[in-house]
This record gives sequence, C-alpha cells and structure tokens, in this order.
Amino acid sequence: MSTNVTKPDVVIVGGGIGGLSAAVSLTKAGLKVRVLEVAPEFGEVGAGLQIGPNCTRILDDLGLLDEVKALGVLVKNMVMKDAADGSELTRLDLGDLEKKYGYPYMVIHRSDLHGTFLRACQRLGVELINNQKVVAYENVPGGARATFADGHVEEAEIVIAADGLHSIAREQIVGDQPVNSAYVAYRGAVMIDKVRENDVSETDVVVYIGPKCHFVQYPLRGGEMFNQVAVFESPKAVAGLEDWGTPDELDTAFEGMCTQIQKGLPLMWRDRWWRMFDRDPAMNWVDGRIALLGDAAHPPLQYMAQGAIMAIEDGWVLSQHVIAQHAQRTDESAGVDWDGALAAYNAVRPEHCRRVLSTGRKWGQLWHVDGIKREQRNHILRSRDTYDYSFTEWIYGPTALTPEQEPPLYAVIPLDSVKLPEGSLS
Ligand SMILES: Cc1cc2nc3c(=O)[nH]c(=O)nc-3n(C[C@H](O)[C@H](O)[C@H](O)COP(=O)(O)OP(=O)(O)OC[C@H]3O[C@@H](n4cnc5c(N)ncnc54)[C@H](O)[C@@H]3O)c2cc1C
Repeated sequence: MSTNVTKPDVVIVGGGIGGLSAAVSLTKAGLKVRVLEVAPEFGEVGAGLQIGPNCTRILDDLGLLDEVKALGVLVKNMVMKDAADGSELTRLDLGDLEKKYGYPYMVIHRSDLHGTFLRACQRLGVELINNQKVVAYENVPGGARATFADGHVEEAEIVIAADGLHSIAREQIVGDQPVNSAYVAYRGAVMIDKVRENDVSETDVVVYIGPKCHFVQYPLRGGEMFNQVAVFESPKAVAGLEDWGTPDELDTAFEGMCTQIQKGLPLMWRDRWWRMFDRDPAMNWVDGRIALLGDAAHPPLQYMAQGAIMAIEDGWVLSQHVIAQHAQRTDESAGVDWDGALAAYNAVRPEHCRRVLSTGRKWGQLWHVDGIKREQRNHILRSRDTYDYSFTEWIYGPTALTPEQEPPLYAVIPLDSVKLPEGSLS
C-alpha cells in the first residue's frame, strides 16, 4: 500500500532533466506532481550541454530562460572543422540563428540546467522523494501504479517513466534492448585558464570531426570554464571484449589528429567514460496510463545534441495538451481526459524523436568517415552557405503539438553524388 497520504495527479519516476522538467511543465498546467528518484540526492553527472532554440523557446515559456541565460553561455558560432588538418568545414552564425528562430542557441553546465529545474520544482511545490527504486509499473482502474524496491506503491491518474536508458517501463512496453554503438565519450570541464594557451575559441562551439573519432569544445559558466568531449570507436568493443573504452584507447584513437586536439586530450577526465548506447526508435510510448518520457522513450547517440532537449519537449508537449483541454472544458470540475492527452502525446512525439534518433546515427557515420568519403563529405560541408538553414528547419522551429505541425526533414545529399577531381584525395 502507498505510504503517502494524499494522492498526486501525476507520479514521475526518475529525477533527471526529463523527469524534473516534466514535473515543472505539468505543475504549471495545474497538476499535483510527485517525483521519485533512486539516487539519494537529485543531481547530474557530466559536464556541458548544448541547447538549441527548440529548447530555449520552451524554457522561456516556463519562465526559466533568464535564469538559464545567467548560468550558461550564449555562444556566437557553431564551427565544424576537420579533425585531421584542423581546417574549417562549415559554420552556423548563432546570432543570426537566434534572429531566425527567435530564441538563442546556448551551452550550459548540466548541473546548472538540472538545478534550474530542481529549484523550479521546489518553488512550485512538486513533491521530491529520493532513495526510491522502481521495480514494476502496472495499470489499475482509473490510473496506474509504480511499485518500489522497499515494497511501497504509488498510484496516480498517470505514471510517467522518466527512468532513463535502462527503464523498467521500457522493458514492459517495448521489450527491446539498448544498442551498443562501440563508441565511447570522455568528458572534461576545466577552468578557462587551463586552455588559454591551446588555440581554443572562448566564444564558439567547435566540433572537430575525424576518422572514427570527434572532439568537441565550448565555454561554460559564463566563460569561466571550458568543456571538452572526446568521442571515438573502441577497437576492443568492436572485437567484443568486455573491458572497452579505456584511456589507452583514447590516446590511440586521436593519434595523428590536429594540434588543437593533441593539446586538449591531456585535460580529459580519465577516471570515467561514457559508453554510448542508444535504442532503435519505438513508435509507441504509452500503455494505458503509463507513459515513457526522455531517454526511457528515445535514448539517442548524442550527435544531434538533442537528447535532453527531446526530454524537455516531451513533458512540455504533454502539458500543452492538458492546458488545451482545460481551455475547452465547460464543466470546471471535470478532470483531465488522460486517455486523450496521452493519445495526442503518442501521436506526435515518437515520430519526431524517430527522426532525431535516425538522423543522429547517420550524422555520426558521416562525421567519422575516412578516405574518399571524407573528401566528399568535406566538399559538401564547405559548399554550404553559412546562412542556409535548410538543414535546421526541421529541428529548431517551434515544437510540434500535432503530427500536422511536424516540419518535413531536410533533403539528404548522398556522398556519392560528389565527383571529386582526379588526384584530389589528400
Ligand atoms: C556525451 C554526451 C553528450 C550529450 N550532449 C547533449 C547535448 O549537448 N544536448 C542534449 O540535449 N543532450 C545531450 N546528451 C543527452 C542527454 O544527456 C540525455 O538525453 C538526457 O540527459 C536524458 O535525460 P533523462 O532525464 O531522460 O534521463 P537520465 O538523465 O538518465 O535520468 C533518469 C533518472 O532516472 C533515475 N532512475 C533510473 N532508474 C531508476 C529506478 N529504477 N527507479 C527510480 N529512478 C531511476 C536515474 O537515477 C536518473 O536520475 C548527451 C549525452 C551524452 C552521453
């Protein structure tokens, strides 16, 4: 039986960026929300996050954009370079991008974004409970129930599973397994004075793309800190070994890459690394009154930098359907039509996230090519006009609330369509 006296409208399992942001959105829609998290404290591990206009637009709607702007950095450009020779391939002018989409592209420390949602939850009266490990989800008449390892249960009109990549609810609703990409990420956030001699940009996001590896750099915390991410394919993972992604592989993966990367590598954290798993897109996230959200629904490879953003969009979209119902109701005492709201959520979010997950996988392949394919890719990227937004229209515009609002994907340019002059392979 439940240990809690008053029953909330919504139970959310998982207090990551997905769970907490959903709690903020749904509380602002007038609901009573309880969040249960397995960890003893609410927090985030890791370093930086990039957040595009499709996220900052929602942060503004939630009244959190000024706080996030004060904590993060409004970067000026997104620059893509060849990791082998350091030459520039293409760039986005993020000032112009902000003018186009109406909201900024930013970078922020993960714990600062998570902390912003945590403080908002506290201000709004969301119930936040730690040390609660969910072990099962089930539907009950008029709602759903989550059962925890200590035997207590939580019931509400809906239960949202925001319990991450290894979600228990995902196992129940979809029944698939995480997919191992054989790539691993190293992170490292340091004080800015540690990198000032390293030919880095303190105003831009710079992504170096190379054969089976890439390296990302950007400033954090108002420019006081600097974040680096090193990602590579692990030969030991490809060979099927258990002990993969180790620091010796990090050093080997970037041998021969440009001097900016060589200078950055010694600053990476070497005591932990993130093996990169995603899942195949799932087109149904709802079972009765149980709904998947965030990485539980759509864990991505991070090449599109949209994982946390998709999680924030999920809760916001669900809340917008609740708000729309409130606006239309004639009987003030009527509750939420959860079956309708969840159907609307399930109609729009899985397809959007399928596009992001699939594009992320293809984007990763494109970043990591070598030989003639690298030359063809570089040619396409160098030919792109800085102010051509045809590749970003589908992602940075307003988040779709219905399938009809989802914009079309961009037209793919096949690498093979690029005919290089004879002898141009460097
Ligand atoms: C290297 C790297 C770079 C990235 N860069 C970006 C980026 O630039 N921009 C971006 O938008 N995204 C980025 N992402 C993706 C992003 O970090 C994730 O998609 C996002 O944080 C997922 O949030 P979530 O809340 O859904 O899941 P999680 O953060 O995994 O949270 C799940 C929560 O559920 C809890 N939990 C798990 N199991 C249980 C249980 N049994 N019972 C109770 N609680 C449980 C966990 O403790 C955790 O707090 C990146 C990811 C990586 C690895």
